[in-house]
Amino acid sequence: MGITYLDHAATTPMRAVAVEAMLPFFSERFANPSGSHRFARDARRAVDEARDEVADLLGVRPGEVVFTGCGTEADNAAIVGVGGLAVCPAAEHHAVLHPIEAHGGRVVGTDAAGHVDLDRLAAALADDVRVVSVMAVNNEVGTVTDLAAVAALIRERAPRALLHTDAVQAPSWLDLRAVAPMVDLMSLSAHKFGGPKGVGVLTVRDGVTLAPLLLGGGQERERRSGTHNVAGIVALAAALAETDTERDRETVRLAALRDRLVDALQSEIDGVVETVTRDRKVAGSAHVCLDGIESESLLFLLDEADVCASAASACASGAMEPSHVLAAMGVERSLAGGALRMSLGHTTTAADVDRAVDVITASVTRLRRAQVRR
Ligand code: PLP
Repeated sequence: MGITYLDHAATTPMRAVAVEAMLPFFSERFANPSGSHRFARDARRAVDEARDEVADLLGVRPGEVVFTGCGTEADNAAIVGVGGLAVCPAAEHHAVLHPIEAHGGRVVGTDAAGHVDLDRLAAALADDVRVVSVMAVNNEVGTVTDLAAVAALIRERAPRALLHTDAVQAPSWLDLRAVAPMVDLMSLSAHKFGGPKGVGVLTVRDGVTLAPLLLGGGQERERRSGTHNVAGIVALAAALAETDTERDRETVRLAALRDRLVDALQSEIDGVVETVTRDRKVAGSAHVCLDGIESESLLFLLDEADVCASAASACASGAMEPSHVLAAMGVERSLAGGALRMSLGHTTTAADVDRAVDVITASVTRLRRAQVRR
């Protein structure tokens, strides 16, 4: 029996097109694209072509694409690079939350779905705010942000502020050509859409100047020094292109599988609370809280049965800290302790869903029996 992988929000299996695109850059096309010989020009051409393709897929200009070392770097580069007072909602990923907190920024509340509370955001906006960062899709509970509403509020209350969106979880579900015009800065990470780990993108609207995080060789037009990860950049473009082509079909397919998963869990097991209603979240997200269950014990049993899921985000699941996202949503600590995040993606099948339902049902039954005996 193989692995039942329901943790696509943590990372996705690589797409074959991305692996294939990378390989020549580990062997015959290994040159440094910043060099001046023919061999270097070949690598530079590969980076330029990837940049053109990514720009086209995101609806921005090639000069607005900055390749970074990961999504975390893109988020930090946006917030620290703009400088000055930053504002974000409490349910952001730590890659946004921590730099904003570290630089004395303002963190505002969310509603019960984890969506930024627009009244509280309005109250935090003023002339001194330089950047507002609001994620496109939440990595734990899958909530989609109404970025048009956020952008309108910023125009009204803090017209000098830039809008950054962490769109790391978005490419599989949202056409980013519709997102990019609403924001000044946008972060992506290849490993969330079938590309490799350790490569990301920050789009920077023309005319926006950022103080670079990394100083050195002046790559990426002085916006991100460091020798290009040519293989990673080329694979990122290939993965994004396939994600874009498949998006509409996959959204329909995976929404049906997600519904089948959550509906079956709710009919098989008592006390399965769906954290966010399906109309507010992306198709691949199934997040529930299991009444009276400890996530840690459940995940242990799932792991033994080769079912991969998580409790909070991947970074927190090792430590089993209570989720800051669920806390921001006002989910009671006792219920949040039984959180289970199952995230579906391009490799998920109906057989995965059915097996997960069987294993989760058996595991919860076992844990509840053990509780009765205690
Ligand atoms: N932002 C969000 C919403 C994420 O889900 C992640 C991944 O965990 C990141 C940022 C960080 O991206 P990376 O793993 O490329 O540093």
